[in-house]
Amino acid sequence: MTARRAQVAAGLAAVRERIAVACEGSGRSPDEVTLVVVTKYFPASDVRLLADLGVTDVGENRHQEAEAKQQECADLQAPGGPGLRWHFVGGLQSNKAAAVAAYADVVHSVDRKKLVGRLDSGAQGRAHPVDALLQVSLDPPDRPGRAGADPAELSALAAAVEAAGALRLRGLMAVAPLGEDPAAAFARLSDVRRDFLVDHPAADWLSAGMSGDLEAAIQAGATHVRVGTAVLGSRPSVQ
Ligand SMILES: *Cc1c(COP(=O)(O)O)cnc(C)c1O
Repeated sequence: MTARRAQVAAGLAAVRERIAVACEGSGRSPDEVTLVVVTKYFPASDVRLLADLGVTDVGENRHQEAEAKQQECADLQAPGGPGLRWHFVGGLQSNKAAAVAAYADVVHSVDRKKLVGRLDSGAQGRAHPVDALLQVSLDPPDRPGRAGADPAELSALAAAVEAAGALRLRGLMAVAPLGEDPAAAFARLSDVRRDFLVDHPAADWLSAGMSGDLEAAIQAGATHVRVGTAVLGSRPSVQ
C-alpha cells in the first residue's frame, strides 16, 4: 500500500466512524447519509484511490478543475465500473452552468432562476436527469458575498427546476455561516426544509455538513455530507 493510499484510507475510516457515531446519536441509520468526498485541489489520482476504497460520490467546486478531473476519470463512470457520481458543490457562474450540467450528476448550488435554464440546456442529451439541490442561504440577508437563495425565494426556484425537463429537483443544500454555531444554523435549515417538504415531499435530500460540522448537520437531518480535508488532508493553498 502506498503512503498516500494508507493516509486516505485512514481519513476515510475516521470520517465513516464519525458519521456512524453521529447517526447513532440522532437515532438515524448511516445508510441514510451519503458521504461526498470533496476532491478540489487534489489530483485525479486521489479520485481513483477513493473509488478503489469504495467511495461512490466525489465533489468539486470549480468548473475547469472538475471537468478536467472528471474526464481523466471517465472510466470510473463507465458501465461495469464503480459508478462514480460527480457532485458540483461550488458557486456557479451563469456562463459555466450549461458546461457543468454536461458532466455533473448532482448540482448542489442552484441558487437563482437564471441558472435553471442553462443547467437544463447543458443536461439535454444526458442519459439521466441531473439532480438539482437548491442552495439556501443561512446568512443574514445583508451579509456581503452571501451565497444561496433566500428561503422566501425557494418555492419559485423549485417551480423553475420542476419545469426543466432535464433536471430533477432533489432537495436543499446549505453551508453554515462562518462565525456562528453550526448547530444553530442547521436548526434554522431544518425548519426551512420542513416547510419546503410540505410542497415538495419527494425532494428530501439535504446536503449539509463539512469536515468541521458534519455531526451537527447529521443531527439536523443531513442526507449528504460534503467532506474534504478530514478525508484527504489539508488542501494545497495554491493550485
Ligand atoms: C470545500 C468544500 C467542502 C469541504 O470542506 P472541508 O472543510 O474540506 O470538509 C464542502 N462544501 C463546499 C461547498 C466546499 O466548497
